[in-house]
Amino acid sequence: MQIVIVDSSRVVLQIIASLIEPRGHAVHAFTDSVQALAFLRSAPEVRVLITSLEVRPLCGLELCWSARLLAEERGPLHVITMSSARNVRSLAEALDSGADDFIEKPPSAEELNARLRAAERLTTMQEELIRLAETDPLTGALNRRAFFNRARLAAEQNGREGGVSAILADIDHFKRINDQYGHDVGDRAITAVADLIAQEGIGGRLGGEEFALVLPGCGIAGATAQAERLRAGVQDLRIRAGNATVSMTCSFGVSSWTNGDSVEALVKRADVALYAAKTSGRNRVVASSRDTMPVVA
Ligand code: GH3
Ligand code: MG
Ligand code: MG
Repeated sequence: MQIVIVDSSRVVLQIIASLIEPRGHAVHAFTDSVQALAFLRSAPEVRVLITSLEVRPLCGLELCWSARLLAEERGPLHVITMSSARNVRSLAEALDSGADDFIEKPPSAEELNARLRAAERLTTMQEELIRLAETDPLTGALNRRAFFNRARLAAEQNGREGGVSAILADIDHFKRINDQYGHDVGDRAITAVADLIAQEGIGGRLGGEEFALVLPGCGIAGATAQAERLRAGVQDLRIRAGNATVSMTCSFGVSSWTNGDSVEALVKRADVALYAAKTSGRNRVVASSRDTMPVVA
């Protein structure tokens, strides 16, 4: 595991690193708690933070609290606090500040490594739970809720006129594939389209045979071209069904971020454009007319 250790003494840091590095862990040691926090923000692969309560400029409790807030957006982080004063008050304060565990300083190699094994079990389980909660079991694509969460994050970073675009896709006459070749072949067709779409940006399965893609840093023209490539890609897919080979087409709606927009409104406009693609013949890309026409004051 990747582990961050914070203590004001370089000697203590070296001692702790020497206890855990032989077990195959990668250690990142800091005497400054603000630098440790910045590192945690930039390194989502770190799974454990071990911090003394007596650190600066953020004290250990503040670091626990900040790291806990960070963990909400960066994935599982197990926080272990250390103190030479093992009293009930500091233990309770540490746990109330977001710590998961508490050890005496200096810790014994046996105790510390046993606690790290527990941390590994817990964070692995948390990662798996997050994966199950975020992905669609059939295709492995993001599910609707996770897609909207990721799309909102992307919009926070790129949400300016033309800075984010959305593509909505729906397989044409999909019911016929199910009816003619069976549900299993239909499932494989859905998975093949999901795989194609997931290669391009933040992609999700919104339900049934409907998919969404958010493209950060892409305006309406780029997104329309991207949708056109996907349209051709879906048309070229071939799904085996016994001796037969199944092909399909997809319709696409495209929209782009406008001032004062929201992810929900962006996707809604792509949905309206998708409906236009369906009613005008299917197997085509339609860009939202609201996003391509100049706004008349
Ligand atoms: P259109 O071109 O208008 O989109 O027609 P369509 O037949 O694709 O659309 P419709 O929404 O009428 O039908 C979608 C079908 O997709 C109905 C449903 O049974 C099927 N479906 C939804 N989820 C799944 C799934 O997970 N697997 C399979 N095999 N079929 C699914
Ligand atoms: Mg359909
Ligand atoms: Mg549909």
